[in-house]
Amino acid sequence: MKKNPIKYYSTNLKSPEVTFKEALLKGLAPDGGLYLPTSLPLITPGELESLSFKEYHETAFYVLNKIIGDEIDKEELSELCAGAYNFEVPLEKVYGRKYIMRLDQGPTASFKDFAARMMSRLMQYYLSLNNQHLTILTATSGDTGSAVANAFYGLKNINAIILFPEKEVTMMQRKQMTTLQNNIKIIALDGKFDDCQKLVKLAFLDPELSSVPLTSANSINIGRLLPQSVYYFYAFAKLAAYIDEKVIFSVPSGNFGNLMGGLIAKKMGLPVKQFIISTNANNEVPEFIHTGIYQPINPSKNCISSAMNVGHPSNLARIVAFYRGIMNETGTIIKQPDMDQMREDLFAVSVTDEETRSTIDETFKKYNFLLEPHGAIAWKGLKEYSGINKRSMTGKSLSIALETAHPAKFPLELQQILNIYPPLPNSLSGLEMRPEDFVCMENNYGLLKDFILKYFK
Ligand SMILES: *Cc1c(COP(=O)(O)O)cnc(C)c1O
Repeated sequence: MKKNPIKYYSTNLKSPEVTFKEALLKGLAPDGGLYLPTSLPLITPGELESLSFKEYHETAFYVLNKIIGDEIDKEELSELCAGAYNFEVPLEKVYGRKYIMRLDQGPTASFKDFAARMMSRLMQYYLSLNNQHLTILTATSGDTGSAVANAFYGLKNINAIILFPEKEVTMMQRKQMTTLQNNIKIIALDGKFDDCQKLVKLAFLDPELSSVPLTSANSINIGRLLPQSVYYFYAFAKLAAYIDEKVIFSVPSGNFGNLMGGLIAKKMGLPVKQFIISTNANNEVPEFIHTGIYQPINPSKNCISSAMNVGHPSNLARIVAFYRGIMNETGTIIKQPDMDQMREDLFAVSVTDEETRSTIDETFKKYNFLLEPHGAIAWKGLKEYSGINKRSMTGKSLSIALETAHPAKFPLELQQILNIYPPLPNSLSGLEMRPEDFVCMENNYGLLKDFILKYFK
């Protein structure tokens, strides 16, 4: 017998509930809110134990099948997972019970590959069933764009338009997007990441574009969040010493999609003691958690952990919803969440560039472990947390910091700090030589709209 599928509601609570397929293909809810599941299945301790013998793609199938259920053919889902996750997910011990999970081994060498590769495959699956077509419109602070461009490149039923802030991405990040071409169109915007995101949101809400089948691949899409819960299960299953051991994760956060994946895993029964939210100087969420007052940072600050330069994280409305509050799309809190519960689950740290650099330096010299700026922020957050909890057992708990990009993506920084030049992973070598193609655009919504309309003439 078929179970009732899980429905998805909008965080603004003004749109009807939809199925997984609809939420995936729509991206943003019609009322401007973000989709979240109305309920989540539980994974029992026995099931968790069984995951410890599985490979990554098998764990992905297990977890996603639990959530998506009968809304996708099981065999197909299993194949999609095997295709998407054909790379390593190393769990490296730094010392004691402290680990770093490397989410940087995918084709674009950032953790965004985990979400983008699964989401693109899920979308292609549903679209091809009815021979439909879709355009991905997305804003990137660097790594999303390359992961999305690579994940959708060459797909039959989907093309993509990607906006990036001209001056805020590295040459390598840009080239990962602009050298693909074909069904991938790239726009360099004369503005910041927040501006890119604003234009994309305007396009989605524009009635004059309603004839264009647009959807988002930003972390606002639920299809990106669900796959990001998998590696939390995977790390626990591989590393926990006993089955109800509580684990601590340090998550380097910008738009908070990664953290949302963790919160989903926790809600499904993963025994997480606390999540450490580690941000750069864009500390609007740590401030919110400490004070209960939310103040976006506009413009966002430029830090060396560039993929986390976000002054108003799009997933914050989801976090607020998880703790029974309501935040609308402008960041206004309509109903205050349960701050006590939130503080019990989330410990927030903001890290400066100077601290990021010294963490990279120290971790390399002390442990021979090479971090890049984003992973360094996670590690620094973990260190602060352990320092505060030094005398309690918490300081000795299983703790996992997430490394979200490959060090080779930040050659100039690492050369300045350590005077070494990290070798490129195979997936990134040879990029410099390839020809680029992209459009430069002023920060003006009218121009983007014209571009989209012309493209679909
Ligand atoms: C996107 C990104 C982050 C931030 O992840 P969020 O889900 O937006 O919080 C951190 N590190 C790297 C390398 C990224 O690309």
